[in-house]
Amino acid sequence: MQTKYCDFLIIGSGIIGLTIAKVLSEIFYDHSILVIEKENTIAQHSSGRNSGVLHAGFYYTEDSLKAKFTREGNLFWKTYCLENHLKINPCKKVVVCKTEEDLQQMYILKKRGDMFSVPLQIIDEKELKEIEPNAKTYQKALLSPLTATVDPFEIANHIYKNLQKNNIEFLFKEPYRKRNKNFIYTKNYKIFFKKLINCAGLYSDSIAKDFGLAKEYTIIPFKGIYLEYITSDLPVRINIYPVPNLRNPFLGVHFTYTVDQKIKLGPTAIPAFWREQYSGFSNFNIKEFLQIIFYETKLFFRNQNFRSLAFQEIKKYNHHVFLQLARDLVYNIDFNNFKKSKKSGIRAQLLDLRTNSLVNDFIIEQNEESLHILNAVSPAFTAAIPFVKYVVQNYLLRNSNI
Ligand SMILES: Cc1cc2nc3c(=O)[nH]c(=O)nc-3n(C[C@H](O)[C@H](O)[C@H](O)COP(=O)(O)OP(=O)(O)OC[C@H]3O[C@@H](n4cnc5c(N)ncnc54)[C@H](O)[C@@H]3O)c2cc1C
Repeated sequence: MQTKYCDFLIIGSGIIGLTIAKVLSEIFYDHSILVIEKENTIAQHSSGRNSGVLHAGFYYTEDSLKAKFTREGNLFWKTYCLENHLKINPCKKVVVCKTEEDLQQMYILKKRGDMFSVPLQIIDEKELKEIEPNAKTYQKALLSPLTATVDPFEIANHIYKNLQKNNIEFLFKEPYRKRNKNFIYTKNYKIFFKKLINCAGLYSDSIAKDFGLAKEYTIIPFKGIYLEYITSDLPVRINIYPVPNLRNPFLGVHFTYTVDQKIKLGPTAIPAFWREQYSGFSNFNIKEFLQIIFYETKLFFRNQNFRSLAFQEIKKYNHHVFLQLARDLVYNIDFNNFKKSKKSGIRAQLLDLRTNSLVNDFIIEQNEESLHILNAVSPAFTAAIPFVKYVVQNYLLRNSNI
């Protein structure tokens, strides 16, 4: 076992770990920063498996960190992509309605966007037809000109290469195993640190518990499966979303017009039974399985919202049901042109054990020696830079033993 020393030890090289390393290296240029990662490279989980949508920031309640940082994050990544010649599709988005109730919810979304100066336009059916002839709505739709798509792995990798150039050290295939006062063990190292920053996504709750934090929380994984359109004759050329159920943290099955000019349908939000249940029995872990089944069963019986979500989502394992949802969003679609995408993503969704409810916002917990980013779910990719700047300014700099 080798020994290492560092000022900042970051666990996880998803977009949150990478952007924390970037922001810290710009402020503490004479401090050592070490990133440990259990996989053999960066962004192998949520950050490399998401929809690649730069959200505009109008879904979230006024008091949330999501609302505060999404619009700024969207503008930051757009500039970053343009300056660094990374791919971007400024394709916009429409949120379409199916019923009178959807229409009322859509006005709530507009109000939420207005509070944070997110440019949005309510359009009628005729205007929608001019923008996307195949999109279908009930009376009105919401147009979001800021929404765009990017390649999330390309962005993460660009940040990683720059961090390497700035001598930030990365240790791959070195999972965090356990802690002991001011050092931790990985597979091959004993690492001493001044401040540990936990950005471990699907495992962030269990690492936080080792530091005596996140006692009221546990992660419930939700799996996002996509279908891909296989012919070049695209059914739509804009992102089309339904009005979501505002009680859930998920946006509903939608069309994404990707940065590579392809169409994806999804993602689902199916409760998974272990954290990295990407396909079949991959990464099966009996301890996790029993724990997650226990919490999901409890949720199922005590939380009506979760119960109806689970019923709706499980049905989407049947592609026909999944595709039917697309019918609500467009006039014409050839179901034969969709095939299941090889890539799925899993959301590290936090459950509040005190209220038996899914947590809607990002959560930050810290003590003297460590800081933990929990529930960095969508749109944490979009919001990453302003969000981690906020974390550094308001948590790390205020309570630092560095
Ligand atoms: C299906 C899906 C679609 C989404 N779509 C969008 C979207 O369109 N737009 C958007 O803004 N957001 C989207 N999101 C959300 C976004 O992807 C996440 O918010 C973001 O990627 C979270 O980044 P992260 O760094 O916290 O987590 P991750 O990317 O999961 O990174 C965590 C890292 O920690 C590592 N790790 C875990 N345990 C250990 C350990 N013990 N030791 C060492 N390393 C460890 C993991 O290997 C991983 O590399 C989506 C998410 C999903 C799942």
